[in-house]
Amino acid sequence: MTAADAPARVLAGPPAAQALLDDTARRAARLPFTPEIAIVRLGEDPASVSYVRGKDAKAKEAGLNSTVHALPDATTEADLLALIGQLNTDPAVNGILVQLPLPAHINEERVLNAIDPDKDVDGFHPMNVGRLWTNTPGNVPCTPQGVMFLLRHYGIEVAGRRVVVIGRSNIVGRPMAGLLVNAHATVTVAHSRTQDLPAVTREADILIAAVGRAHFVTPDMVKPGAVVVDVGINRVERPGKKPRLLGDVHPDVAGVASALTPVPGGVGPMTIAQLLGNTVAAAERQRT
Ligand code: NDP
Repeated sequence: MTAADAPARVLAGPPAAQALLDDTARRAARLPFTPEIAIVRLGEDPASVSYVRGKDAKAKEAGLNSTVHALPDATTEADLLALIGQLNTDPAVNGILVQLPLPAHINEERVLNAIDPDKDVDGFHPMNVGRLWTNTPGNVPCTPQGVMFLLRHYGIEVAGRRVVVIGRSNIVGRPMAGLLVNAHATVTVAHSRTQDLPAVTREADILIAAVGRAHFVTPDMVKPGAVVVDVGINRVERPGKKPRLLGDVHPDVAGVASALTPVPGGVGPMTIAQLLGNTVAAAERQRT
């Protein structure tokens, strides 16, 4: 069957995330200690509170220790840096995550750079960025690494294939490109200054959208039979109702692509699972 006569195969996130969590729990159980993640959050931003609650709960579910340090919004940068210093030297702590965004009075870059790179399970420290681009072991940002796991889970080969990533953020687009290059893909990174974007995206065997614009990728931008990964999570407010979560990819792309990740229920569940995977991997490396 070809893409033209069958709707795209749905690459569901939950089974892939469960496989990653199972693997993480097995690896954690092989360690002579229980891996621990420290999660730092400032203020009461509802999205941050809910993300941190989710990460903490999943960590415990996977048999990890998790401690949440919920600090007031007015915490000074010096106090936050002091806490990070303590966590860096605490031998029981294997991974440290500072929930972003931080309040405006705090310099995010200074804080992220203060985390011990070996415990930086978000993979944002410049040392880890360098490790990724030199293809040496280190912590890699969770969302793009989760995408790689999802593709492997569904048997989608990237080596030798043409991949286009739309987006060049430090959290998704850039590390996604680095991982794909390391996995022997031929990679193009597109962004808001790319000329004739549809011509570029139509070259892709695998198209990864990390744009942050609802239904941005339309069928005319997709090569028939391509695999499309939708990283976008766009909240669309509706009066009197819960907001809808829409991906970056228009649903009609399912008529052109051979496989497509849904939103919600695609890449989203991979991110938290990968955070725990990163914590266990960090613990394994710290032990050796
Ligand atoms: P950013 O806003 O940091 O980056 C968006 C990128 O898209 C930029 O590189 C920007 O280009 C590019 N872009 C914007 N408009 C266009 C356009 N018209 N044409 C081509 N490129 C464009 O977002 P993030 O990378 O942080 O996140 C992307 C999406 O992924 C968001 O929806 C976010 O919510 C979601 N996300 C989902 C996660 C998950 O767990 N599933 C985790 C993290 C993010 P330029 O650099 O030129 O400005």
